[in-house]
Amino acid sequence: MTSCCSRPVAASQAVLPVAIIGAGPVGLAAAAQLLARGIAPLVLEAGAEAGHAIRAWRHVRMFSPWRFNTDAAARALLAAEGWAEPDPETYPTGGELLDRYIAPLAASAALRDRIRTGARVTGVARRDFGRLHDGDGRDAAPFILHVETCCGIEAIEARAVLDCSGTWGAPNPAGSHGMPAPGEARHADRIAYGIPDVLGAERATYAGRTTLVVGAGHSAMNAVLDLVELAKAAPGTRILWAFRRPLGAVNFGGGARDGLARRGDLGARAQALVESGAVTALAPFLIDSIAQADDALAVSGRQLGRTRTELAHRMIVATGFRPDLSFLREVRLGLDPAVEATPALAPLIDPNLHSCGTVRPHGEAELRHPDTGFYIAGMKSYGRAPTFLLATGHEQVRSIAAHLAGDSAAARRVELVLPETGVCSTERPAPGAATACCAPAAVASAPKGGCCCG
Ligand SMILES: Cc1cc2nc3c(=O)[nH]c(=O)nc-3n(C[C@H](O)[C@H](O)[C@H](O)COP(=O)(O)OP(=O)(O)OC[C@H]3O[C@@H](n4cnc5c(N)ncnc54)[C@H](O)[C@@H]3O)c2cc1C
Repeated sequence: MTSCCSRPVAASQAVLPVAIIGAGPVGLAAAAQLLARGIAPLVLEAGAEAGHAIRAWRHVRMFSPWRFNTDAAARALLAAEGWAEPDPETYPTGGELLDRYIAPLAASAALRDRIRTGARVTGVARRDFGRLHDGDGRDAAPFILHVETCCGIEAIEARAVLDCSGTWGAPNPAGSHGMPAPGEARHADRIAYGIPDVLGAERATYAGRTTLVVGAGHSAMNAVLDLVELAKAAPGTRILWAFRRPLGAVNFGGGARDGLARRGDLGARAQALVESGAVTALAPFLIDSIAQADDALAVSGRQLGRTRTELAHRMIVATGFRPDLSFLREVRLGLDPAVEATPALAPLIDPNLHSCGTVRPHGEAELRHPDTGFYIAGMKSYGRAPTFLLATGHEQVRSIAAHLAGDSAAARRVELVLPETGVCSTERPAPGAATACCAPAAVASAPKGGCCCG
């Protein structure tokens, strides 16, 4: 890996590289897939090391086992260097994913000179074409990326761009309207977004205090389970858990029916905690404002039309993530207005349409944007939908690499078998329901485990 101002690849190449934004697991898999097809990748990573976002959740155990967490082309690169592949049936923590897979992959002879760390992409455009400008050659023009390094802003050209920058840097707020609640930014020093390490590095911050956890997904479940564990050892630790919906409408997952046993177990254990009263559920609780009240936060909201205020020393906001589109202002994007995924992908993952966490595998065709050669892949490709799996991201970049190499048959082929969630409740028919996960037509053609209704 090279950092900051060094220019390892692009300057000497007759053919422009494919730029990959982000050296997370999907960005690195994209690089490996491109290399396997003889295409030069250039990975631009904002953090100091590959896997920068995962460093923040090192302590969290993943709900998918190793066999779903690594990419085939990446494994081939690692195998060439004598990599000891982890037991495919065990579940790594984020830290183990970093240490046993991401770090060795980024340091591999094939990739290390193709990754630039400390390189944050701040803008993407087509060379000489702003977003508005049509004209001869727009589609053939290379992309220009503005990259912020310790030396300032550098312009890098690329023949195609894969934005694999994830969503970790853009968490959803606690405010019920999707905007930060009044007071949320002001009291940010007492609010954690994601899953803080309450049993490790941040134990002292949460022990013996009242914490309000906001959100209903796996991150919130992990945070609540850790806090309950902490409460066993630290008297006075209290947990409030706020949901947007009434408890009866909360989806705790497929339990024993989930194809990923650990994911099913996580939901089942979280539900049991609520039912046992070990945590106080506020459901529904729609947060309107956050203010100071002596040494605590006064969190005000609405519960079934009545105003309610809860006191908590800390908040953990785990309400999901959204894509940062700010540096893509000059790219012609095609995005669903609600999900912020491509219009072809959005109906497959929109939680308003169905609760199938299991998504029909998809690739280059579903991920295209109006500006040809530009793709969003990985976690960010799902926009605001919460059900992304690494295995899905690996299939996405395999297909995109095949397309960029001119192998359209391989780009269209589905090579992924996804685990089922064990949950499926179509709330209203999806537009184009024949392609949605729950649709009978999809059941017939889906690979084993590719549809949760199969
Ligand atoms: C706590 C947690 C647990 C999860 N557990 C699982 C699981 O068990 N199984 C599973 O399949 N999935 C899981 N996921 C979901 C998902 O697979 C992970 O979030 C995964 O890290 C996504 O990979 P990614 O490469 O798309 O994005 P990331 O891992 O977020 O990587 C994106 C990279 O891009 C960099 N970046 C961001 N902006 C820029 C920029 N402007 N310029 C340059 N670089 C930039 C970041 O620093 C980061 O290194 C989990 C997610 C979380 C948060």
